[in-house]
Parts: sequence; C-alpha cells; structure tokens
Amino acid sequence: MSKVMLVTGGSRGIGAAIAKLAARRGYAVGVNYHANADAAEAVVDEITRDGGKAVAIQADVAQEDQVLRMFRTLDERLGRIDALVNNAGILEKQMRVEDMDAARLHRVLSTNVVGAFLCAREAVRRMSPRHGGQGGAIVNVSSAAARLGSPNEYVDYAASKGAMDTLTIGLSKEVAPEGIRVNGVRPGTIYTEMHASGGEPGRVDRLKSVIPLRRGGTVEEVAGAVMWLFSDEAGYTSGSFIEVSGGN
Ligand code: NAP
Repeated sequence: MSKVMLVTGGSRGIGAAIAKLAARRGYAVGVNYHANADAAEAVVDEITRDGGKAVAIQADVAQEDQVLRMFRTLDERLGRIDALVNNAGILEKQMRVEDMDAARLHRVLSTNVVGAFLCAREAVRRMSPRHGGQGGAIVNVSSAAARLGSPNEYVDYAASKGAMDTLTIGLSKEVAPEGIRVNGVRPGTIYTEMHASGGEPGRVDRLKSVIPLRRGGTVEEVAGAVMWLFSDEAGYTSGSFIEVSGGN
C-alpha cells in the first residue's frame, strides 16, 4: 500500500512540484487547491499519466469546516495520512506596515498561520497513536522572509512565516514521542506566480544579483529538500529547518 501525502496548495508552483516528486517516490497524493480547479486537475492528470495516484481536493485552508471536509475526503479516497505538507500560502501587494489594514492582516494570517495549524491538527489526529495512528511526518513550507522580515514589501507575510516556524518548533516537541516528525523548509526567492500577487511578477530577476548564488531558485529545488525531510535518511531530524535560499 502506498503512503498517503496531502500537499496544501498543490495545484501550482512549489506545491505542484512537491506533489509530482512525491508521486514519483511512491506516495498517493492529495492535491489541495483553493480556486484553480483546472490547475489542480492538470497536476493530477500528469501524476496519473506517469502511473501514480492522486486526487484533487478543493478547500480553503483558512476555513475549519473546509479543512475537516478535505481530510475526510483524503481518508475516503486515499486512506489515512502519513505525510502532510503545509504549503498553501499567500501574500498581498507590496506596501509598508503603516499602510496595511486589518482585513489584509486577517487574510494573510488566516491562510498562512491558522490554515497551517488546522491542517497540522487534523494530521496529528490521524497520525498519533493516541488516536489509533502509526506516526508520520509534517513539513511546513515557511520562507526566508521569517528571518529577513521583508521590509517595504510584506512584513505581515514574513511575520506569518515566523509564526509557522514557531509552530514547527513547538509541535515537533509535542508529538515527537508519538513518532511524528515536524520540520520546516525556508525557500528564498523562487520562480513562481506568487510574486505577481505582490504586484511584481519580475521580482525574482530584480533580486537575483543580490542573492549569493546570483540566481532565483526553482520549484524542483524546494521540492527536493521537502522530500528529503520525509525520507528515512531524515529519520532522526525533527524541529529542524532547511534553507533553500541561494545562500541568503
Ligand atoms: P503560488 O504559486 O502562488 O501557489 C499558491 C498555492 O496555494 C496555489 O496552489 C493556491 O491554490 C494555494 N492556495 C492559496 N490560498 C489558499 C487557501 N486559502 N487554501 C488552500 N490553498 C490555497 O505560491 P508558491 O510560490 O508556490 O508558494 C508556495 C509556498 O511557498 C507558500 O507558502 C509560500 O509562502 C512559500 N514560499 C514561496 C516563495 C517564492 O519565492 N515563491 C518563497 C518562500 C516561501 P489556487 O491556485 O487554487 O489559488
């Protein structure tokens, strides 16, 4: 029987690369998406064409009832979860903190922080022997922004990733005795559509001259680090972070 992985925000960018690599490594993959069903189905089709198993599951991770429905669907369609990737995340238009309104702060924190907590909670409820589970692993896709702060762009987003890192540290210690490992990956500046949400689609190329490796990163490079954290080689690694940020 294949191990089961859920990738939130698996329809595009980094999440899609993780879903495809996981399927190649033998996981049956739940490909979560929020709005773009066609993109999620395209990821599922590619995995299926390559002989893998995947299902697309719609849910806004910020909404508790939708997260509950997503996990029930995963249980029914693929089986009990072994691996969760908290990857879904958003940022909004670049601006200074003094211009941010409460609605924006709630949107960013709800998706990036509350969403990650809710999905981690549902995963632990299935992985922990306290609930009849057999252990598992969680990887939180944070950001180098948690260390760098993203001044003049999106300090709110950076702060949400800082919260995610604290979730990684605290939860890893809470569930380690139950055979659940929790780790984080901090991508730097990666070529995806996310930068367009900030109002600057060409952001990676603007910044590449100040990145020590002098280039933006690829989604495959992030996916590789995430999948290492799920591997047997990472069996003694928990509460840790891998920087995938070109030396930044
Ligand atoms: P992206 O290309 O914008 O894709 C975002 C994905 O998240 C999409 O699949 C989207 O689904 C999904 N999503 C958004 N809001 C959601 C919600 N409320 N519920 C469920 N799914 C939701 O982003 P990306 O660049 O691949 O980023 C993926 C992760 O890496 C994020 O957590 C991001 O913060 C982190 N990261 C990215 C970079 C970078 O440079 N790109 C750097 C550091 C960290 P729909 O398509 O259906 O909307």
